[in-house]
Amino acid sequence: MRIGRFAPSPTGPLHLGSLVAAAASYCDAKSHDGKWLLRIEDVDQTRKMAGASEEIIHTLEHYGFVWDDEVIYQSQRTALYEEALTRLRHKDLAYRCTCSRKEIADSSTMHGIEGAIYPGTCLAHPIKHDSMAAWRLKTTESLISFQDLVQGRIQHNMAWEIGDFVIKRSDGLYSYQLAVVVDDALQGVTHVVRGADLLNSTTRQIYLQQLLGYSTPVYAHIPLVLNADGQKLSKQTLARSLPKDEVIPTLLEAFSFLPYLPTPPRAFKTLPELWQWALENWQPFDSVE
Ligand code: GLU
Ligand code: ZN
Repeated sequence: MRIGRFAPSPTGPLHLGSLVAAAASYCDAKSHDGKWLLRIEDVDQTRKMAGASEEIIHTLEHYGFVWDDEVIYQSQRTALYEEALTRLRHKDLAYRCTCSRKEIADSSTMHGIEGAIYPGTCLAHPIKHDSMAAWRLKTTESLISFQDLVQGRIQHNMAWEIGDFVIKRSDGLYSYQLAVVVDDALQGVTHVVRGADLLNSTTRQIYLQQLLGYSTPVYAHIPLVLNADGQKLSKQTLARSLPKDEVIPTLLEAFSFLPYLPTPPRAFKTLPELWQWALENWQPFDSVE
């Protein structure tokens, strides 16, 4: 069975960009009679906004999304992430690091897709026990590639383009990359549909899946909704939160960013009618140029 998911971070209310991503993964899963799961990615307690999880859940309900199973919260799954880290440590694939951002910037000689590549300082000179150290994953020169249903073939050389990356931060929080891999695998997610801002994270996630013995889902990264200044909609760019009224027009606006749906042929009076039309008319990602 196809299993998709929506995995918002509760850093603020949902905006149009989140609605587009949620709708795309929902239509993909539900039009295939699959399951659609909701996971609150609240692992980073420092970025969490009070009440945002409840508000996100309420907004999704209000917009007519129906998810399967119980909502899961990453903040309650630390033991599972710890187990994954332990497995990586037992295979000697992780090491502790105490370098600051500045030390890395000053000592790095290689530039990757997201800036300075970690030069392996703490791998070459293992640090003594330090509870405030981060954990990094060792990367090798393996090429990780995948066929994204929207973006085409993506590949990265892990050591040259990514470098040893943090899987547990020095403040004790597990990284997004590790948590998302563990959860997608344990929830049996088969199809990850999300915004293109996460495209560059995907090879790290596939690399971790391979090291942990998990299978790799199908990926579709949909183009981001940008504001008039060409910026990604987010709390930082002061994106408007989704309105509580005008639900049908707002959903239609979200649909207009998805070329996998035709232009609606008529006006819709009710939400169930609109969703039924969307699920019946949804086209596969790779059928659209
Ligand atoms: N929690 C992430 C975000 O809101 C999305 C994670 C994912 O879909 O993999 O940006
Ligand atoms: Zn270090």
